[in-house]
Amino acid sequence: MKSDLPSVVEFQRRKRVFALRGLLPMFAIIIAGCLLMSWAVPAHNNRYIVLANLLIFVSGMVFVITAKKYYRCPVCEKVVVPTKDDGTPSEISFGIAYKPKECPYCKAVLG
Ligand SMILES: [Zn+2]
Repeated sequence: MKSDLPSVVEFQRRKRVFALRGLLPMFAIIIAGCLLMSWAVPAHNNRYIVLANLLIFVSGMVFVITAKKYYRCPVCEKVVVPTKDDGTPSEISFGIAYKPKECPYCKAVLG
């Protein structure tokens, strides 16, 4: 069943923006970091191993920053985080809800 509620449509659009500006660069940086690592480890070149780790760390930051920027509820503008077992938002993790059915804060329908 596909919903065409404005909040659902807008959240789908935000997810696409997030995939394009967050996930795509993140994967590119991770792949670059892994390539650098696979080249640096056999050569025991510690400087490049540090650089590779840094790249992988940066990719994590890209993910967190773009998620916080774009992965928001269209109704209350809060980041859509996963919910705990009792249905309350779990804010301690850096995670985002993968396929949220509703906003954990205002209960707007998102998918
Ligand atoms: Zn909301």
